[in-house]
Amino acid sequence: MAYHIMYVDDVFPAFKDLMLETAPSSLTLSFAKELKDKEYDEVLKKVDAIVVATEVVDEHTINQAENLKFIQKTGVGIDNIDVEAANRKGVPVANTPGMNATGVAELTILLTLALYRNLLYVHEHTVQGDWPMWDVRLESYEMAGKIHGLIGLGNIGKETAKRSQAFGTTVFYYDKFRLPVEEEERLGLVYKPFQELIAEADILSLHVPLLPETKHLLSMGEFMTMKPNTILINVARGGIVDEAALAKALATKEIAGAAIDVWEGEPVNKNNPLLSMDQVIATSHIGAGTKDTLKKVLNTAFTNTESYLAGKETAHIINQVNV
Ligand code: NAD
Repeated sequence: MAYHIMYVDDVFPAFKDLMLETAPSSLTLSFAKELKDKEYDEVLKKVDAIVVATEVVDEHTINQAENLKFIQKTGVGIDNIDVEAANRKGVPVANTPGMNATGVAELTILLTLALYRNLLYVHEHTVQGDWPMWDVRLESYEMAGKIHGLIGLGNIGKETAKRSQAFGTTVFYYDKFRLPVEEEERLGLVYKPFQELIAEADILSLHVPLLPETKHLLSMGEFMTMKPNTILINVARGGIVDEAALAKALATKEIAGAAIDVWEGEPVNKNNPLLSMDQVIATSHIGAGTKDTLKKVLNTAFTNTESYLAGKETAHIINQVNV
């Protein structure tokens, strides 16, 4: 049996090759961004499943796909998918939890070290022929001995904790679900209520989903309670941080620096004041952006999709319509 799948995000040539290599022969792939309007409408009507990364899959798309049986996210955060609309249509939505945890955890450490060592400044001046050996020496720091506060201790938070501990930090975490104390002891983690965590962390990294209750979780009030040496690493979702407040907090030195991989609007507007601040490192939603991650994610996404369409038990369905 052959099933028709539509991939709805932009697709770059090498990534398209990887998708075609990874997809089992039972799945026929169409790429939405390669289709003209009318052709797109016709193909969408017939597809059995949509595979999506960060493109918005709204109610209109879900209803237009008359034959739709399954939506598969290649990643974790499903805030770009109208899950309620999928529920109403009886369409399961699955994600690929944990597959991208290594990539995002490694990026968290990379951004922390890059901020602490003023890496971008040193690189820029060295390649220009300067020798910035002393310029930032007294404003450079080690992770060892610092408190790393994690907001969210799911797959990515846990992988980040392990890596951070290897650099000699003490890891505090806040999550809406606290681990059993024996588990905290086994992992060497200290639970802190949210307000205490943000007030005590030197390094603060975000690993929660964007939900109504996490929207602008960090705004001016929170920045004002942080220590002036705190650096913020947002590798979760843009809307969790109030960007306007963050720009003010950095300008008034409420906190020392920020690395931002995810933005309130993506691609980030080039006039966003955060982009021109010395204490900011900006990246373009690359947390899970490695070939290693992509292979793991695509394998899981296609296995899920094929299993569901073939009527087999399917992993990682996040809504309640598994009929
Ligand atoms: P996960 O589901 O394994 O963990 C999320 C954790 O957040 C859970 O432990 C959950 O209990 C906690 N949580 C949820 N709501 C909360 C709240 N209101 N307050 C406190 N804790 C709360 O997910 P994950 O794989 O660790 O990913 C976390 C997030 O990272 C994703 O939702 C996604 O938005 C983001 N992400 C970003 C990238 C990137 O490229 N930068 C890649 C993958 C994931």
